[in-house]
Amino acid sequence: MKCPICEKGILKKEIIKEYMFGFYLGEFPAEICSGCNESFTDSITTKEIEKIARKKGLWDLGATTKITKTGNSLAVRIPKKLADYLNLKDGKKAYLHPEKDKLIIESEP
Ligand SMILES: [Zn+2]
Repeated sequence: MKCPICEKGILKKEIIKEYMFGFYLGEFPAEICSGCNESFTDSITTKEIEKIARKKGLWDLGATTKITKTGNSLAVRIPKKLADYLNLKDGKKAYLHPEKDKLIIESEP
């Protein structure tokens, strides 16, 4: 079968390791494109991955937020769900650094 994304590669059945936000979810059957490397899972597997992600509290953790100005700095509002998951609290210290074009916020333990 041809890849629906790049329309060049051939899909091959493989077992893939699935991650969400860097957390390991498990191994699942998928079809991998020999061209663009995109992976495709069937609807049953996709539901199973969602179920595991929900169980681990990872589902819906990603969120869009607005960057606001505060004095000369910028502030990022962190949704409660995400703050709770990472145990971020008001007044807690965090270390900020870039990782390529991403902003990493590491809370102190
Ligand atoms: Zn492809």
